[in-house]
Amino acid sequence: MSDRRIPKEVLKEMAELRQRLADAEETLRAITSGEVDALVVKTRLGEQIFTLQGADTVYRIAIENVNEGVITLSTEGVILYSNFYFAQMIRTDLNRLIGASVFDFVTQEEHDILAALLQQDNGHDEVVLRSGDGAQVPAYMGTKKMQLDDVIYVLAVVTDLTLKKREEELIRTGGLIQSILEQSPNAVMVCNAAKTIIYASKVAHQLFGHNVLGQPIDSILLSIRKSDKPLRFADILSDDVKDGTTICTEKNGKPLHLLLRYGKLGEGGDSTGIIISLTDVTSLKQTEQLKDDFIGMVSHELRTPLTVVVGAIHTAMLKGITPEERQERLRDAAFGARELENLLENLLELSRFQADRLVINPSKIDIAAAVREVIKVLRATSQIHHLVFDVRQKLPPVSADEIRMRRILYNLVENAIKYSPRGGQVRIFARLKGDSIVIGVSDQGIGISSEDQARLFQPFQRLESGQAQTKGLGLGLSVCQHLVEAHRGRIWVQSEPGRGSTFFFSLPMTEKGTVDH
Ligand code: ADP
Repeated sequence: MSDRRIPKEVLKEMAELRQRLADAEETLRAITSGEVDALVVKTRLGEQIFTLQGADTVYRIAIENVNEGVITLSTEGVILYSNFYFAQMIRTDLNRLIGASVFDFVTQEEHDILAALLQQDNGHDEVVLRSGDGAQVPAYMGTKKMQLDDVIYVLAVVTDLTLKKREEELIRTGGLIQSILEQSPNAVMVCNAAKTIIYASKVAHQLFGHNVLGQPIDSILLSIRKSDKPLRFADILSDDVKDGTTICTEKNGKPLHLLLRYGKLGEGGDSTGIIISLTDVTSLKQTEQLKDDFIGMVSHELRTPLTVVVGAIHTAMLKGITPEERQERLRDAAFGARELENLLENLLELSRFQADRLVINPSKIDIAAAVREVIKVLRATSQIHHLVFDVRQKLPPVSADEIRMRRILYNLVENAIKYSPRGGQVRIFARLKGDSIVIGVSDQGIGISSEDQARLFQPFQRLESGQAQTKGLGLGLSVCQHLVEAHRGRIWVQSEPGRGSTFFFSLPMTEKGTVDH
C-alpha cells in the first residue's frame, strides 16, 4: 500500500492511533514493571485501566461532597486539610481553617477529649465544637492515625449531631408530655379537624369503658349530657358550652359529674383541632349535695323545737289562761329549749372534734350523781318509759369531764326513749370491771340489726328502722364515741331487732378506784 494513494486525514488518524498504542504499551510496561499502581477493570468498553492518580481525584471529589466533616490534622492538632462541609459546620471560612489549631474550634471543657482522640490510633468520641459565630455544635468525631512518607497524620471524620440532639430532645419532651398526660387524673382527648380522636389518655379510655382512639368525637360525647341534651362537638366549637362547664354522664349506673375544659390546638386561626380534658368532680358534687342536705336537715331539726318554744311562750302569755296551764306551757317551752340546746351542743362537739379542738376538762366526779341527774331531766319527757338506775356497789369517784359525761349519758338515755316507741323500761347500770368502769343503757325498743350496728357511730347516720317515728340528726352516737374516746374509753352496742338494745361505754382506771388522765 503506497502513501500516495492514502488520503491525508486517514494518515493523520493512523499516526494518532500509533501514538496511543505506544502510550498504552508504555503504561502496560510501567504497570508490569511496578512503576505505577493501577487497577485493570473489565467494562462494557473492554478492559480499562484505573491508575491511582485518577482514583485520587475521585476520592477528593467524594470527600468534598460527602455530608460529613472531613479534616486531616497533625498530631498536635494543626488543620492540614478540611472539606467544605466541616467549614460550613463550624461556620468558618475554609481559608481561615487551614493552618489553624483544631483546639480553637472545640470548647475549653472538651480539650482533653480532643487531645486523647489525637493520640489514639483509632478513636471516637462526642465533642462540642465552637463555631465561628460562638454557637455550640454537638458533634461525633472519629479519628484514625495514618503514616504517609514518614509523616504521621490524623484523619478525622466529624458528624454534626445538632439535628440528632434536637430529635432526641423532642422525643424526650414528647415522652415527658406523654407521661404527664398518662399520669393525669383527667381524661384527656385530642381531636383533629376531621372530628376524630387522635390521642386519648388512659383515664379517657377508662372513663368511656373502651378504647376511644380513632373514633369520631361525637360518638363518644353522645353519652355525655349537658342540660339533659347530648353534648355535640359543634357545641364546643361554637363556644355554646363554656370552658369550665360541668357536664353529666353515667358509669356503672351511677351519675358521674365531669368538669369540661377545652382549648384549640395550634396557633391563632390555624386551629387543627381541639384538646378536651374531663375531670371527675363527682365527689365534689356529692360533698356540695351533702352540705346542702345538711343545712336543710339542721334547719329543720332546729325549727321543730323552736316552734314549740315560741308557741308555748305565746300561749303562756295569753290573758285569761289559768296558772296551771301557764305552768304547763312554760314547761313545754323549757323542754323545747333544752332540745335545742342539746342539738346545738352536739353540733358544736362534732365541729370541735373535726377541727381537732376537742379538749376535755377532767375532775373527780361522782358518776352515779351524773346518772341520777340525767334520769331526772329525761323522766319528765315520757309517761310510758320507766327509767331505773341499777347500781349494786358504791362507785369510786372517777376523773372525767363532768359536762361531757352528762352529755354522753343524756344522748344514750334520750335514744333509749326515742327508739322504744311502745315504752318499757330504760335501765342504766354501772359496774366496775377490771381496770375500767362500764356504764350501760338498755331499752326494750326496736333494736338494731347487726349490719346496721357497724355504721351507727358515724356522723349523720340514721337507720331506716328508727327514722319514721323520730326526729334527729344522726349526731348523738358519733358525739358519744368522740367524747368516750377522748377519755381513752370505748363504746359499743349489743342489740336484737324487736327486743331492744344496750349501749355500753367503758372508762379506764389507771389508779385503783379512779379513772385518771
Ligand atoms: P339520732 O338519734 O339523732 O338519729 P344518733 O347518732 O343518736 O342520732 O343515732 C343514730 C341512729 O342509731 C338513729 O337514727 C337510730 O336509727 C339508731 N339508734 C340509736 N340509738 C338507738 C336505740 N337505742 N335503739 C335503736 N336504734 C337506735
